Amino acid sequence: MTDPAFEPISIQSLYFTGISHCDVLRLDQVHPVISGNKWFKLKYHLQNAIEEKKKGIITFGGAYSNHLVATAAACKLHNLQSIGLVRGEEPEDYSHTLRNCIEFGMQLIFLSRQKYSAKEIPEDYLNDFHIVNEGGYGVAGAMGASEIISGEMPCYTHIVCAVGTGTMLAGLINGMKCPNVIGVSVLKGNYEVEKNVKDIVVTDKINWSVIHDYHFGGYAKHPKQLIDYMNDLYSATGIPTDIVYTSKLFYAVEDLARKGFFPDKSKVLIIHSGGIQGNYSLEKGTLIY
Ligand SMILES: *Cc1c(COP(=O)(O)O)cnc(C)c1O
Repeated sequence: MTDPAFEPISIQSLYFTGISHCDVLRLDQVHPVISGNKWFKLKYHLQNAIEEKKKGIITFGGAYSNHLVATAAACKLHNLQSIGLVRGEEPEDYSHTLRNCIEFGMQLIFLSRQKYSAKEIPEDYLNDFHIVNEGGYGVAGAMGASEIISGEMPCYTHIVCAVGTGTMLAGLINGMKCPNVIGVSVLKGNYEVEKNVKDIVVTDKINWSVIHDYHFGGYAKHPKQLIDYMNDLYSATGIPTDIVYTSKLFYAVEDLARKGFFPDKSKVLIIHSGGIQGNYSLEKGTLIY
């Protein structure tokens, strides 16, 4: 496995009613299993772990966490150990995500929901392991994400991305490549996220906002309307999206555009941040891809 950060990332044009020019940055294509934005968010964590001569990285996540599996894979690539503290009791049947984590050599430790919420690192690992927050939230993650848009890329009036912890959004703002950056939150009523973004943003030169209207019922909720949209989008464009993040993002952009959100002559870049591995939790046949 090569480091996907070195893969050329392709841009695909898309036609949405109400946007003069719309492109998609296909971070989903950097690796079939590991979601695109996580590599960027982990870059400086990996560097720190190596420089500080740690044995590896310890982090947190749920049984379907893109962050957990990306951490496992990235650590394997750099010959670091990885430990995942997983929310909830050990399941009888491991999710596809957890099985992947194990294949990449991650040691899994299951914590009761109560213990998990305390976010305590077991003492044995405190000194030898570099700690990464749940979802990779923080300054180092944002620093990596600020490199998602390279200098050679054409100019856009708007960048639009999905928002979980807001780390990628903060990175895109800090990267200062476009005057407007818009995040689409995939959690229901997560109004703290603006503050979390503010805390790791280092510039006031960019207009940015988070839109909270496209969560489809909450984190990882995927009603039939969303599944139908994912299949329709794939038929029309060949772009696969995931149930947690990017389907809601594309739906939001198309809906906002139809409602006249983007001024005339807008040039919009949608960040396809990957996450396709999350679709393996769906029943076979739900999606046409
Ligand atoms: C983790 C993830 C996000 C959210 O990134 P944050 O930096 O936590 O906001 C968006 N899209 C995909 C596919 C992800 O896996």
